[in-house]
Amino acid sequence: MVKLVYVFGGGKADGRSYMRNLLGSKGANLAEMSIIGLPVPPGFTISTEVCTYYYEHDKIYPDELSSAIEVAIRKIEDEVGTVFGDADNPLLLSVRSGARVSMPGMMDTVLNLGLNDKTVNGLIKRTSSERFAYDSYRIFIQMYADVVMGLDRGYFEEMLDLVKEENGISIDAELSAEDMKTLVYRFKAKVKEELNKPFPEDPYEQLWGAISAVFGSWKNHRANIYRKLHSIPDNWGTAVNVQSMVFGNMGEDCATGVAFTRDPSTGENVFYGEFLVNAQGEDVVAGIRTPQSLTLAGKSKHGSDLPAMEELMPEVFQQLSDVRLTLESHYCDMQDIEFTVQQNKLYVLQTRKGKRTVQSALRIAVDMCDEGLITEREAVLRIKPQEIIQLLHPTLDPLAYRNIIAKGLPASPGAVSGKVVFSANHAEIAARKGERVIMVRIDTSPDDIHGMQFADGILTTRGGMTSHAAVVARGMGRPCVSGANNIRVDYFNNKFFVDDYEVKAGDCITIDGGLGEVMLGEVPTIQPKFSNSFVRIMEWADSARRMRIRTNAETLSDAQIARDFSAEGIGLCRTEHMFFEAERIVAMRKMIISTNETGRREALSTLLPMQRADFIQLFYAMEGLPVTIRLLDPPLHEFLPHTEEEISEVAKVVGMSVEMVQRRASELTESNPMLGHRGCRLAISYPEIPEMQARSIFEAATEVAKCGKPPFPEIMIPLAATEVEVRLIKTIINRVADEIAQESSIKVNYLVGSMIELPRAALQADKIAAEAEFFSFGTNDLTQTTYGLSRDDTSSFIHSYEEKGIIKADPFISLDQQGVGELIKIASKRARSVRPNIKLGICGEHGGDPSSISFCEEVGLDYVSCSPFRVPIARLAAAQATITREDMMNKIKD
Ligand code: ADP
Ligand code: MG
Ligand code: MG
Repeated sequence: MVKLVYVFGGGKADGRSYMRNLLGSKGANLAEMSIIGLPVPPGFTISTEVCTYYYEHDKIYPDELSSAIEVAIRKIEDEVGTVFGDADNPLLLSVRSGARVSMPGMMDTVLNLGLNDKTVNGLIKRTSSERFAYDSYRIFIQMYADVVMGLDRGYFEEMLDLVKEENGISIDAELSAEDMKTLVYRFKAKVKEELNKPFPEDPYEQLWGAISAVFGSWKNHRANIYRKLHSIPDNWGTAVNVQSMVFGNMGEDCATGVAFTRDPSTGENVFYGEFLVNAQGEDVVAGIRTPQSLTLAGKSKHGSDLPAMEELMPEVFQQLSDVRLTLESHYCDMQDIEFTVQQNKLYVLQTRKGKRTVQSALRIAVDMCDEGLITEREAVLRIKPQEIIQLLHPTLDPLAYRNIIAKGLPASPGAVSGKVVFSANHAEIAARKGERVIMVRIDTSPDDIHGMQFADGILTTRGGMTSHAAVVARGMGRPCVSGANNIRVDYFNNKFFVDDYEVKAGDCITIDGGLGEVMLGEVPTIQPKFSNSFVRIMEWADSARRMRIRTNAETLSDAQIARDFSAEGIGLCRTEHMFFEAERIVAMRKMIISTNETGRREALSTLLPMQRADFIQLFYAMEGLPVTIRLLDPPLHEFLPHTEEEISEVAKVVGMSVEMVQRRASELTESNPMLGHRGCRLAISYPEIPEMQARSIFEAATEVAKCGKPPFPEIMIPLAATEVEVRLIKTIINRVADEIAQESSIKVNYLVGSMIELPRAALQADKIAAEAEFFSFGTNDLTQTTYGLSRDDTSSFIHSYEEKGIIKADPFISLDQQGVGELIKIASKRARSVRPNIKLGICGEHGGDPSSISFCEEVGLDYVSCSPFRVPIARLAAAQATITREDMMNKIKD
């Protein structure tokens, strides 16, 4: 027979903390605390399997449940010395929900269950306080009617106010025993009146009502929505915890409170918490009375006049401090606990892993390692890679002048200046030209995501901390101010207004997403200073990880940021990105428009020195680390002249008529540019292009080699589908390399490799690897071509795909491990079969995504490459991937 009910208390328990799937996290930890000897009021947990059974059997319970519960109640009675439903000496219970993960949508706790018109007398006898007993009874009816029977809480509050009014008093504490009694009768009458059924007197009926309410709440509207938002499976189910009551409201030697074993905001190793004397349940969080600090230090830190527990109840404080140490040395992590003090005796009602800021998470992990509680590897595993992005962004120079024109919510941290744009498309166009932009919207929707990706900062005038803009911006690590509602946006005229200011598209503003401030003009920023803990965690991560971390960079400033974040090379330098600037784009257009080799060569000879100068800068910045340079891969449509102005400019430069340029431009227009004449196809048609690029690379490398560390270019061929393409282009590159080596008598070390971004290339990897000395998986295009999905056209339907569970995550953000991943595995295996030591890496958005990084570790790639600000995230995620894999291997070995 399956066990349905797990008892705990009196130094024993049926469950353990690792059984959280079965007992929920609250139940599992109550069991664990009992076993390690902490003072937990005895009780039992009904397992999540009962919940699953309940829903699979039309809301019927397993037959054995009721006898199992009765047995468990007998055990509690023996332990506590009271009897459930007994008129002289009644056992009172709390009924609490508890899923695997804490879920705000679930049923609220019911306290004091078991009280009725008879047992209340027993409580009076036991406590010699009629007022206390009727107050408890009143609280019970109020909670039960609300939570279990579904009667609006407002009725009771009204009645409470009425009784106070009748007696001319203002605070609950002044209500007499008689008043409480009156309330009990009025409450019960109200229940009957509103619900047409009496309030249940039978304690077992009360208990079953509460249990069913907990199970029922698993599928209530709030819980369903919460689960959907947090991808919690419906079939997990919740557990129910039934526990004997302790009372924090029996007098001045009683209290209730919450505590953290370390300061959750700084991580400092100090006890931190609050309590209230003579109070019950969640009074501390409810904010009706001002809570008091546990410690004297906390009291002075908060400038409070109320006495700390340390001085008010020194003995209890000592018990609590002991509990703190026991919990930390047992769980080896910061804990968040709930406790109650009944007549100077401490009871612990809950413990769980304490929520914390990133800063404190780092500090706690490092301190605990120093204290010998955890190892360096465990410390590394404790930090969520996505969260450290908050630490990496620049902040405003505190000494700089700020002309603050509006305030909104601090939706996503980081400070940034940029030109105002009002649409996602403008954000993309400007960013592609290398401009910093702040995208200003009334609010954002999934259609704006590509713009948010290109924008350096986001400002919205509507929406809160959980608005689309705020959530997405935080996920991307983009600074964001949301809900700046004094700002009025005029999309039609590309302007926004605030007070007397008028800000046009293209004007510069600064936002501080950590403070919610919007400033006019550019405010200088300073790079963040990393805490000692951050530096140490990253050192430990670096020594644990196997893969190298590179960055995607074309500009010197990006390369430098990445180097500051310890990038170990450039994994993707998109050479066409170097041609967006005004003066260069003309030469680029000339090359594209030219109908013959002479014209192209002319244009290329203008581009060559520019490109060479860029490479010189990059090679210097990377100090001998590998630099993967991708040969020109321009999406032609982005470079074609469109406006009349652009066309006539090109006509002038090329020496063609406007009509001819127009004709040529329309000839070159493709119906599907993504799969058109781009990548290496261009190099095959016009060999002078790779020739020029190779020349600029090797001339730059030779020059840098003369005075700096010898550069290490890795020249990468884009969009290859066959080994022949690779061979032809490689031949050109090798020829140019030899020529320049002869001319300069300096030999540059280099590799020629292929990008793998077409399924055909992945399948033909063995053939291609015979030519290519390295592979870099271009997972953006590989995802597009594997899925047959255009990245720029997914926003209209990708969400419904996620909602319907067709895909788990956007495949352009998190690598599709089954499909695209399979191709990567196949390609790696086939490539290694002909070239065992072939260097394998990945570039594209996925290189900065932790779950994709862990996939790369599994496949045994040599490196991942990501955007500069994601380098630290990738370092940490790669370390975690290695540690997890190694731990797993060791487990298998044992
Ligand atoms: P939540 O999940 O919202 O924290 P809990 O089940 O922990 O809900 O219950 C909320 C509060 O109810 C607890 O913090 C505690 O103060 C009170 N409570 C729960 N069980 C008991 C009990 N057995 N005795 C006294 N108070 C209790
Ligand atoms: Mg609660
Ligand atoms: Mg709780």
